[in-house]
Amino acid sequence: MDAGAAPNPQLSTMRRRADDRVNWVSSIPFLAFHTTPLLLLWTGVSARAVVLGVVAYWGRMFFITAGYHRYFSHRTYRLARVPQFLMALGGTTALQKGPLWWAANHRDHHRYSDTEMDVHSPQKGFWWSHVGWILCDKYSATETDRIKDFAAYPELRFLNRHDTFAAVLLAVTCFALGGWSGLVIGFFVSTIALWHSTFFVNSLAHVMGRRRYATEDTSRNSVIIAVLTMGEGWHNNHHYAPSSCRNGFFWWEWDPSFYALKALSWVGIVKDMKSPPATLLASNRLKDGSLDIGMFRANWTKAARAVSAAGSDRRDALGESLRTRKASLEGLLDTSLESATELATTIRRGQREQLRKA
Ligand SMILES: [Zn+2]
Ligand SMILES: [Zn+2]
Repeated sequence: MDAGAAPNPQLSTMRRRADDRVNWVSSIPFLAFHTTPLLLLWTGVSARAVVLGVVAYWGRMFFITAGYHRYFSHRTYRLARVPQFLMALGGTTALQKGPLWWAANHRDHHRYSDTEMDVHSPQKGFWWSHVGWILCDKYSATETDRIKDFAAYPELRFLNRHDTFAAVLLAVTCFALGGWSGLVIGFFVSTIALWHSTFFVNSLAHVMGRRRYATEDTSRNSVIIAVLTMGEGWHNNHHYAPSSCRNGFFWWEWDPSFYALKALSWVGIVKDMKSPPATLLASNRLKDGSLDIGMFRANWTKAARAVSAAGSDRRDALGESLRTRKASLEGLLDTSLESATELATTIRRGQREQLRKA
């Protein structure tokens, strides 16, 4: 091995392996689902079907954001056992697999944001983070060790195994209430819209919008995604304080999932909603000059990959000189990244101590 081809853990990231590739056979139902709006040419569009579609979209979005995300993934509030089951059941109508599968993968997204271990790392591109990761075999199983707390409930394990029957029931209801047009718009079209709006949080909320807080990742706040997803677009806020029940930290940040949970807390269904302290909301702001380690790491890693890819196979003195320079540049990039990470960790530790004292 020559000097220019030294192994580098930063550079081995994001390479596509066999089980990272789309399984086109098992993806047929998902892809075929996207052709169902064509049926509207035969069924037409009725007003009742449109109402069904709107209700099915927002109703199920609530179960995904307030349930699968803010409850099962992050435990940002408490539910008794029956409402917990109903929240999971509602989530399965969205055809985004079971609550344990969804939440286990999402916890990994937070634990390993933007790295190779991140299930839908935005660093692997739009297609991968939007749907590619769902259509490959690698993440099809539920990693129950990531979600031991909820996997302890047999009724949730049952829903996780049988994650389509509630959606079939919804389809039948749409047909009963709105006929063929009701079925196509109320169920199929609203499901497709629901899928892609949810997936935008994974694919676009790390590339579109603005960053308010310095976080370990590349998350951003986007009002467009917040409107589509009942408040999930405040993704930088969320990565900054994932245990917070509200993603819109300020009154002007549209977060209807939070408003609905608040209303449920008034009647005693939702309990112990967690909110970040005011001191935390005022810390780590980029406008105050905080070290943006998430973007630093993403850009530095990209630069390191470009350096690694560059080079020459010339066997003469010039080729040797290029390889030597490349090796020293790679070493420099590695050391800088390490130092920046240590600096960010030290700053964070200091802030945590300050917060504890406050
Ligand atoms: Zn994210
Ligand atoms: Zn989250």
